[in-house]
Amino acid sequence: MNIQPSSQDRRSAGVSPVYKHRSGWNAMLPERVRQSRPPQSRYATIVIGGGYTGLAAARRIAELRPDEAVLVIEASTIGEGSAGRNSGFIIDLPHNTKMGGHTSPLEVARKQIRMYDAGKLWLEQLVREHGIECGWNPAGKYHAAAGDKGAASLRAVLNQYREWGISFTEFDREGLNQKIGTPYYQYGFHSPNNVFVQPAALIRGLADSLPANVTIREDEAVFALDDSSPFVVKTANGEYTSDRVIIANNGFARHLGVLRDRLFTIFTYAAVTPRLSDAELAKLGDSREWGVIPANRLGTTLRRIQDGRLMVRSAYSYEREQAPETTRALLTGCYKRRYPQMNSHEFEYMWGGTTALTRNGASFFGELRPGLYASVGCNGAGVLKGSVFGKLLGEMAMGVGSTYLTDVLGFEGPTWLPPEPIRKVAVTSAIRYQAAVAGPER
Ligand SMILES: Cc1cc2nc3c(=O)[nH]c(=O)nc-3n(C[C@H](O)[C@H](O)[C@H](O)COP(=O)(O)OP(=O)(O)OC[C@H]3O[C@@H](n4cnc5c(N)ncnc54)[C@H](O)[C@@H]3O)c2cc1C
Repeated sequence: MNIQPSSQDRRSAGVSPVYKHRSGWNAMLPERVRQSRPPQSRYATIVIGGGYTGLAAARRIAELRPDEAVLVIEASTIGEGSAGRNSGFIIDLPHNTKMGGHTSPLEVARKQIRMYDAGKLWLEQLVREHGIECGWNPAGKYHAAAGDKGAASLRAVLNQYREWGISFTEFDREGLNQKIGTPYYQYGFHSPNNVFVQPAALIRGLADSLPANVTIREDEAVFALDDSSPFVVKTANGEYTSDRVIIANNGFARHLGVLRDRLFTIFTYAAVTPRLSDAELAKLGDSREWGVIPANRLGTTLRRIQDGRLMVRSAYSYEREQAPETTRALLTGCYKRRYPQMNSHEFEYMWGGTTALTRNGASFFGELRPGLYASVGCNGAGVLKGSVFGKLLGEMAMGVGSTYLTDVLGFEGPTWLPPEPIRKVAVTSAIRYQAAVAGPER
């Protein structure tokens, strides 16, 4: 099924992601009931993008200024964007500690860990307070390696964990087999630093529990905005004016003229099996829910889901979604190699999702021009990072400081990317090279 934002006209074509298939996570939920509040033409703040970053910023601004109206404009429906397409790992450890601007990566990592701890508590509190049924499960995560290079790379990760003071348990092939039901991996470890969620349920719950002064417009892509305040924000449905704009549409910020030479978008792919029988589930290890992070960036993520399904995520493509037949063949191969003993390797849902990358793995965070703020370039792993950075960006826009805000403003920003077509050649070559290096981790 093709998802096209219903409001999309020629002016807004290409300014936001369009996917070939619905998000499986969103499709597993009942039909979404949207907010029915009619829009007004003027708002104090407009947030572009209803993912984790945008909703966190909108929530914080609305809390700090309960008398001001906030508008969130989302190109798809809440739950159909990347926020509802990811694998649902909420990992509270740094994804990239090699950023400069600090005396050592250890110092940067410690700042990030402190920030993520606080962010996870905040999210958990919201989930509990608003009764968001997203399967919140602090089960931790496995990292596993099939090949020797992968195993060496995981051992290097553990050296970093030791430095950071993170606990972990190591497993050999037999130990992993018992836990996750496959002898495919030779070595791995488990660390408690992860919470599993149903990501579409979480983002919908976060949207539906926003303060009353937040209006959400869904299926409405922004295709242009003015350079200075008061900002005129244009969508296919009309124009809105505001004093402040928060840009939270990740890699698609480029299409609004923002950070064009810093961001690019890649697609990655996931699929979920139907609910498996008890006999089939017995082949998938000894706990109801677990997840495996690969030992290489281009490797395969696995997740056994609480309701008795298995999820497989793998592969990357540059800027464009690949053909569904290619994705299905690839993900089926990843599943079969790891679980040849299953009676079937069918998937019920399969989808692609976008994520924004930068050359050096750093996000952009801050004020672009007076009144215009952005937090974009999540570099994957953005469920928690997006929530934390979005909250801090909302506070920054409202003039509220904190040590976390000082820390995030001190992190290095994204470095320059060459223009097309050099950019495409460089990124696709890097993907091909990494895929070759990933070998059995794919
Ligand atoms: C398959 C897959 C698996 C992943 N797994 C994980 C995981 O397990 N854990 C993790 O932490 N991260 C994971 N990620 C990454 C994660 O989804 C992102 O880091 C996260 O969604 C970023 O949040 P965000 O709010 O910054 O951006 P997004 O979630 O991308 O939100 C931006 C929103 O802006 C909207 N938008 C775009 N253009 C416009 C426009 N012009 N006008 C209006 N709206 C617009 C989009 O529709 C989108 O909803 C995964 C990603 C994919 C694709």
